[in-house]
Amino acid sequence: MGEENKSSLFPTYGRFPITIVKGEGSRLWDDTGKEYLDLMTGIAVTNLGHAPKQIKEKLVEQLDQLWHISNLFGIPNQEKLAKLLTDNSCADAVFFCNSGAEANEAAIKLARRYNQKVLGNERYEIVTFKQSFHGRTLATLTATGQAKVQEGFLPLPEGFVYAPYNDAEALKGYVNDKTCAIMLELVQAEGGIILADPDFLKEVVRLCKEHNLQLIVDEIQTGMGRTGTLFAYEQFGIEPDIFTLAKGIASGFPMGAMLGKAHLREAFGPGSHGSTFGGTPIATAAGIATLETIVGEQLPQRAAELGAFAVRKLSESLNGNPFVKEIRGKGLIIGIECAEPVAGVISDIHQEGVLAITAGPNVIRLLPSLLISEEELGRGLDVICSVLAKRSAAAVQ
Ligand SMILES: *Cc1c(COP(=O)(O)O)cnc(C)c1O
Repeated sequence: MGEENKSSLFPTYGRFPITIVKGEGSRLWDDTGKEYLDLMTGIAVTNLGHAPKQIKEKLVEQLDQLWHISNLFGIPNQEKLAKLLTDNSCADAVFFCNSGAEANEAAIKLARRYNQKVLGNERYEIVTFKQSFHGRTLATLTATGQAKVQEGFLPLPEGFVYAPYNDAEALKGYVNDKTCAIMLELVQAEGGIILADPDFLKEVVRLCKEHNLQLIVDEIQTGMGRTGTLFAYEQFGIEPDIFTLAKGIASGFPMGAMLGKAHLREAFGPGSHGSTFGGTPIATAAGIATLETIVGEQLPQRAAELGAFAVRKLSESLNGNPFVKEIRGKGLIIGIECAEPVAGVISDIHQEGVLAITAGPNVIRLLPSLLISEEELGRGLDVICSVLAKRSAAAVQ
């Protein structure tokens, strides 16, 4: 690139100086022909690798049939994917949209509307958490507990309060007679790969029961098998009333989904919510093929095993490296927390032909494909460890 001034795009992204033009499995190539190993999957989107054949086939089949028809008509693929999702989760109903922010927006609307239209109260406030990330629409950036995401967008919509994450003791102080829901990630991803603490979750569930609050879990980054189960909540011993998906749901085809339990169904009657592109025949064809592959090939289990392998290998190789503070993760969402900002380390890793990203300033985030081979993953981790070894040696001098 190097021609920022000439771009006709709004400069909303701090882009890496790399232009990827082709991908296959966990391999990528830039416009100079340089090959990269992908350990970030477009931020947990291409969970089955790039251009997976079984998804492409179903997409092409659907492209020959029908692209778009409007949600004013029945859409068999949508019904089928919703059934697959509810058969494989604690939810009973699904709303399809096009992105994570929209899925969370739908969750926020559903929690409010259930209270106002079904329970007949006026509750609207949602407890979310510091350093969370829930999206970029006005409501979801307000749900996000990070000032930098909210800067310059005043006035923000009312009705969100931010509790400290993993603080069971403090939580009840944030619940009052206006509260309708608690909304959280089980692994705060953008916030730095921070796992929810079991005692904290117990208190979340207890407060939801005691005050009849909807428990909303944002599974946009953790969902679709990445953490070692199809959805992360299965491993944390909780059942959300509402949870949201996007990112990996359709292997790179844009789609989001908001899922809810049966008691919430009537809160979203005809005309209450909608989306022109939500759940098109094409998007849901990609979604069906993706979910069938993840479940059929037992990829959550694969993610758990590969994740354990990765954490073991990183822990051994980075043991004694003074620049590295902690290695943590759940399945194939892994964070390497360092003593200082890692932006420079990330660009060195890219230079060495491996793609990874940050999570917060000090954490290296790894989100490999669920289908990456152990050999590829091991090779990528070796590169990261050797870059980190050089970094700590440089710091000592
Ligand atoms: C990416 C992400 C979102 C936002 O999804 P978009 O598709 O970018 O709108 C929301 N929540 C979490 C946890 C995410 O990782």
